[in-house]
Amino acid sequence: MRHVAVIGSGPAGFYTAEACLKTFGAQVRVDLIDRLPVPYGLIRSGVAPDHQSIKAVTKRYAGVAGEEQVRFVGNVTVGRDVSVEELRGLYDAIVISTGAPADRPLGIPGDDLPGVIGSAAFVGWYNGHTDFASLAPPLHGHTVAVVGHGNVALDVARILAKLAHEFEGSDIAAHALDALGLSQVRRIVLLGRRGPHQIAMTPKELGELGHLARAAPLVDPSAFPPEEVDATLDPGQRKSVALLRGFAAEQQDKPVTIDFRFFAAPREVLGTNEVEAIRIERTRLDADDRAVGTGEREDIPCGMVVTCIGYRSIAIPGLDYDEKLGRFVNEEGRIGGAGSGLYCAGWARRGPTGTIGTNRPDGFQVVEEMARDLPEPAGKPGGAGLDSLLAARGVHATSFADWQQIEAAEIARAREGSPREKFTDIADMMAAVEGGGEA
Ligand code: NAP
Repeated sequence: MRHVAVIGSGPAGFYTAEACLKTFGAQVRVDLIDRLPVPYGLIRSGVAPDHQSIKAVTKRYAGVAGEEQVRFVGNVTVGRDVSVEELRGLYDAIVISTGAPADRPLGIPGDDLPGVIGSAAFVGWYNGHTDFASLAPPLHGHTVAVVGHGNVALDVARILAKLAHEFEGSDIAAHALDALGLSQVRRIVLLGRRGPHQIAMTPKELGELGHLARAAPLVDPSAFPPEEVDATLDPGQRKSVALLRGFAAEQQDKPVTIDFRFFAAPREVLGTNEVEAIRIERTRLDADDRAVGTGEREDIPCGMVVTCIGYRSIAIPGLDYDEKLGRFVNEEGRIGGAGSGLYCAGWARRGPTGTIGTNRPDGFQVVEEMARDLPEPAGKPGGAGLDSLLAARGVHATSFADWQQIEAAEIARAREGSPREKFTDIADMMAAVEGGGEA
């Protein structure tokens, strides 16, 4: 039997498990290990709560977890409860698919002031992630600056702009819904250091901003290059730019504005004990489309800054980590050369780019390499060995059946109009397991 440990049960982890099943059939056992008692990683805690159709992909993952060759082993932290070296002794192959859960720092003066919040924390907060449930973002100011022109910036702006009834059908955390209901934020400034042609936003997500109940996008028509230059863009980007041009042409009159600022690079966060303003420098593009400062500066008063400038993986002791790229050192998903038995997939391998589905070919490619590197299993103990080690250390791992009990309890305690109310505390999750799914 071939034993594979997949660390991280988000999309990359599940696609890797699926690829193991397709490639090795009955001759494989896969343990999907997660530090949380619950599975699904980015789908549970990263995808916006009002994007339930994207979250529905978990049905497919549940199918994978339901196969007898696959186990979910939750509530186990690799590096604390068990080391990578120990896992290497137990399994034929280890795949790191821990994603990129940490924020890239902004790296400007004042970025450590209270009220400067990274998107991992802010998104984790409204999604009920156990690490960020107590974040309490300052929502009492009139203006919030969101740094970055990617899809996460759009998610953050939309969540800040929506009214309670627009969250109908979403699984936004109750604490976030309550706090947003009291929010004083009326202006959300989206800061991009380059121009409309360089945005990293996709059309569907951008289009949603045109249909909000009380908020409307505000775009300065003078930010655009001549319209004929749009023809040089790829079709998706052209569509996004057309949407932006539409926003610029038809300003809706609504009480909350989502103000797109282009050619505006953050230079300093100003404030004494908390954020009071963000200082930006006007930029222009150089010949390689990079943003260069013009020396012209402006201070935008704001009570909170949310940075949506990309994520980084978290290093695991014993594994080479590329600080600059924020991911594990690897060659085509292989860590430490052929024969190491170590691989990585998803954002831990590529960095934080692409959609959920981009992780599928990633997982399959890693398993192809695994099949080449390890034509024969080495007779290792696999999950049975892990179980005895965890039992000896008093670690209470959760199974997929335990997760189903937690999920039943989350569904049972949901507010009206919401599919679930997530537990935001690991102790409550474990209590739901003990209670057999009772909330
Ligand atoms: P992203 O797509 O890489 O966008 C990051 C943005 O931050 C870019 O506009 C970038 O500008 C800017 N930026 C980076 N460093 C900066 C700095 N020091 N100062 C100012 N601006 C800076 O990252 P993301 O929005 O976090 O998204 C991550 C991935 O998840 C993407 O692939 C995204 O499409 C995906 N995602 C998809 C969805 C969806 O499909 N609904 C939702 C959320 C996320 P430059 O271009 O100038 O570097």
